[in-house]
Amino acid sequence: MNFKAIAEKYGTPLYVYDFDYFHERFLELRKAFRGNKLLIAYAVKSNSNLSVINKFSQLDGGADCVSIGEVKRALKAGVEKYRIIFSGVGKSDSEIREALELDILFINLESEAEMLRVEQVAKELNKQARISVRVNPNIDPQTHPYISTGLHENKFGVDIDTAKRIYLYAKRSEFLKPVGLHFHIGSQLTKLAPIRDSAEKISNLLRHLKALEIDIKFFDIGGGIGVQYRDEVTISPKDYAEAILSVINGLDVTIILEPGRFLVANGGYFLTSVLYEKKNGNKRFVIIDGAMNDLLRPSLYGAFHDIEFVNNSSETSSADIVGPICESGDFIAKNRETPIDVKSGDLLVVKSAGAYGFSMSSNYNTRGRVAEIALENGNDRLIRARETFEDLIALEEKYLIK
Ligand SMILES: *Cc1c(COP(=O)(O)O)cnc(C)c1O
Repeated sequence: MNFKAIAEKYGTPLYVYDFDYFHERFLELRKAFRGNKLLIAYAVKSNSNLSVINKFSQLDGGADCVSIGEVKRALKAGVEKYRIIFSGVGKSDSEIREALELDILFINLESEAEMLRVEQVAKELNKQARISVRVNPNIDPQTHPYISTGLHENKFGVDIDTAKRIYLYAKRSEFLKPVGLHFHIGSQLTKLAPIRDSAEKISNLLRHLKALEIDIKFFDIGGGIGVQYRDEVTISPKDYAEAILSVINGLDVTIILEPGRFLVANGGYFLTSVLYEKKNGNKRFVIIDGAMNDLLRPSLYGAFHDIEFVNNSSETSSADIVGPICESGDFIAKNRETPIDVKSGDLLVVKSAGAYGFSMSSNYNTRGRVAEIALENGNDRLIRARETFEDLIALEEKYLIK
């Protein structure tokens, strides 16, 4: 890919997404589950750009949303309402109301208290709310603690006994209709065993519910398949599908997948330019125009992103690659082998930046969020304009008393 030409055309910092890669990853996953009823509900939070959501909806993908804002994004991007799921650990009454009015596929419940709220709101609207319950299987996903969600010590989901109570209550309620069963144990999963064990536990619950004549149509196995940032050995879609299919063997359900990172992480690139280089004592710093507000993962999780130095020599020494933000935690890489001849204006391509990159970005330090570019069939196009200073103050300016 000619990143240099793209950086010259659109400026840096910049996010670039390879839509052809997104396409391939989606098909790869679908192929692994071939012959089964399947909905791939793209996890919108991983990369929420309307054009990215639209790309997957054109492949008949759905959307897994964790706020009503994401639900509305999905609809705006062209996702069919019957392919939209609303998950998340704390939904407000107004979000529940809107979701019911928009008539999406189902709402994922995360507590008994939330079930009662959904029932109440559905009653007020005189509607029947299609629901699913997020069950916490209490299995260690063996991933970073910040992105682990499948243990009872995490805030997500309910235990199996609570889930049974919720389904029994919902079955009797005039305003609730249980249609799905859901689990999602964490993100960046690289081991299959915790997924298989969770699926087994939850599928046993599904059989139990069917025996109680609670007609669960959707077996929603969440997202979380890991990707390679450095040298991780990841789960192949084929092995993933085989593990799931062997567990649900014989059950008549539609399988729902909620992949985010798997689809987009390695199709995204963060382009940034060198501003200066400096030394504090013996410590070498390369200061770039991108920062933690643009790509938070290194600061938040200590995440590793491979960096390509586009036009430099191969002789290197160790340096920290840091942004201009007034925080010591503002870095993209630490102690990274860096070409000795970097100079102002040189381009860095930060890899694996398609997931939880732009979608986690902020305006900290009054930095406008960067532009986003799609590459598809050999063409590049803008899919989000760079934010201007006027954009940043638009909601404050009229309240300023001088
Ligand atoms: C975040 C999330 C996902 C997506 O996770 P990835 O690791 O990006 O695949 C799927 N489902 C739910 C409920 C989530 O919260």
